[in-house]
Amino acid sequence: METSYETIIIGGGVVGSSIAYHLSERYKEGLLVIDKKFPMSGTSGSTQAWVWVHSKTPAWYAEFSMYSAELYPYLAKKIGDVEYKRTGGLSPFFREQEREKAKRLAEEYGKIGIQIDVLSREEVLAKEPFFNPRVAGATFSLLDGNVNPFRLIDMYMRTAKKNGVHYSTYNRVTDIRRRNDMFIVVSEKGTYASKRLILAAGPWSRELGKLIGINIPINQVRGQILVTEPLKPFLRYTISGLRQANNGEVLIGYSMEQAGFDRSTTLDVIQETANLAIHYVPALKKAKIVRAFSGIRAMPEDGLPILGKVPGIDNLYVAATHSGVTLSPLIGTLLAELLLDGETSLPIERYSLSRFA
Ligand SMILES: Cc1cc2nc3c(=O)[nH]c(=O)nc-3n(C[C@H](O)[C@H](O)[C@H](O)COP(=O)(O)OP(=O)(O)OC[C@H]3O[C@@H](n4cnc5c(N)ncnc54)[C@H](O)[C@@H]3O)c2cc1C
Repeated sequence: METSYETIIIGGGVVGSSIAYHLSERYKEGLLVIDKKFPMSGTSGSTQAWVWVHSKTPAWYAEFSMYSAELYPYLAKKIGDVEYKRTGGLSPFFREQEREKAKRLAEEYGKIGIQIDVLSREEVLAKEPFFNPRVAGATFSLLDGNVNPFRLIDMYMRTAKKNGVHYSTYNRVTDIRRRNDMFIVVSEKGTYASKRLILAAGPWSRELGKLIGINIPINQVRGQILVTEPLKPFLRYTISGLRQANNGEVLIGYSMEQAGFDRSTTLDVIQETANLAIHYVPALKKAKIVRAFSGIRAMPEDGLPILGKVPGIDNLYVAATHSGVTLSPLIGTLLAELLLDGETSLPIERYSLSRFA
């Protein structure tokens, strides 16, 4: 016996839950989110959670990220406080030769209306007095910030549920079949039929795609993060490398390793990350490290989001990306538009899965 839904979303991380919430604002048909564990158990619960715009390439991808960052204050009004802070973002450089590259970045971004300032050493230290005085400069943008990813997903889920969305957790999808125009989703807890299916499985996207015979070229890239004890607020900005959370903890690191789905933390990377922290902010030498965690990035083969309709299979959609925290309000908005209106208010064709064909 199957339970029927209009739409099923597989994956309840920040991407799947954002789509569920945004759809549920306008869509009162049956909507089910299935997750093999719990919605924060994947990448979305093991992230730095910068809402990061500046220094992304190509510039049109930064522009896309900017629209998402712009949605955050509005999102918070609708679903509640997600501890989003638009702190401004600093990307430091330590060699004077890098200033030319920073200026080129600022020039290129200026053409699409994103203002980036190239700061001198003195300007960096005026903004962030605890930064290493050996810094040569930094690029700076007012658009960057960070968010509490746990609150974000929790609020997406709570609001989606209030709007009638069903969640089925600890329920792995093991097979997906087609019967006439329907998707038959086989899971550990039962079989479901739906007209529309959205694949939002983050780093597991490739495996999930295989169940329905499509290639979603997402690789796994491990990242390890160090967390300090709560310190009194002393870092003002989101720095590409570390940030101070609302509770005072400093989250440090952006390592990248090929380790498949292995979520171990390792001493070599932890040491490198600790060195990075002290190099950037020497005062952190005295901070107590309370934990380290690692997460598995969902990394598309070309680094850019994979979004929208799956070519060749009607009513099948995919949303898989790195920087999913930054992009989640926009991805949810656009996927809801695509499903309900048949078109999106911003073009997403360049993010289509078809580019890998
Ligand atoms: C160390 C690190 C730092 C990062 N820093 C940032 C940052 O600063 N800013 C930023 O924007 N992004 C950052 N990211 C990336 C960001 O966290 C991810 O892009 C985002 O969390 C992806 O969300 P998701 O919902 O696609 O994936 P996930 O959160 O992984 O959710 C996918 C869900 O699918 C479920 N699932 C998978 N297979 C199945 C199945 N067969 N059946 C049922 N359920 C299934 C999983 O259980 C999981 O809950 C970082 C990532 C890492 C690892």
